[in-house]
Amino acid sequence: PAPGWPFWVGTSWKMNGLPDDARSYAERIAAVDDWHGVLPFVMPPFTVLADVARLLRDSPVQVGGQNMHWDECGSWTGEISAPMLRQCGATMVELGHSERRRHFGETDQTVNLKVHAALRHGLTPLVCIGETQAERDGGVADLILARQVRLALHGLTAAHVGRVMFAYEPVWAIGEAGRPAPPELVAQAAAGIRQELDRAAGAPGVSPPLLYGGSVNLENAAPYAALAGIDGLFVGRAAWTAEGYAALARAA
Ligand code: PGA
Repeated sequence: PAPGWPFWVGTSWKMNGLPDDARSYAERIAAVDDWHGVLPFVMPPFTVLADVARLLRDSPVQVGGQNMHWDECGSWTGEISAPMLRQCGATMVELGHSERRRHFGETDQTVNLKVHAALRHGLTPLVCIGETQAERDGGVADLILARQVRLALHGLTAAHVGRVMFAYEPVWAIGEAGRPAPPELVAQAAAGIRQELDRAAGAPGVSPPLLYGGSVNLENAAPYAALAGIDGLFVGRAAWTAEGYAALARAA
């Protein structure tokens, strides 16, 4: 990233983090005294979120949930609301990750409801978008990405659009079976996404930060971070230890 330009490095622990491990991770990153200008955030499972947020309260590391419901309370067995996340100390929430879209019925419409709810309750939504391998092979990746952006932001005022964050995460690049996307491909996809974001924001320069995610590791972090259209990295496996996460933040 250009000097002085804010650059995000965050991680979702996904379904990892028993209480002892979570506390030790949080203590270690709370002890990092220089983030070298990076804006750090971690997204632990709900069961340890309050603990992690308490340990990171006096640090620059923000804490977020990995999902939430759009309603505030009520008969939604197994769900977590924005006020619950807020009261546990979260300031962010990840929405629309491909694993939630694929396995748990998340759609562009439910993501949109959740974006509205997050903003209503003072949480920063981090919306994940990305095409499948079949969509890329079929030549419709850019169309899919533009539609995901448009529907996620549906009904927001231009001012609210600027309070959302996005992560471009090609589905084929995520997880054990994934392979990191070539930086040139990320740059090209990011340019199309940025056009859509600028359109929604009404003006260039005020539109949401755009992060890259999908098999980010120590070797490829710097090349992604150097891309003009990318404002941060969203990391899974490579940041599941405190040392791994801190090293990635340094590499970016
Ligand atoms: P990964 O996960 O880094 O393990 O590929 C990234 C993500 O799902 O956001």
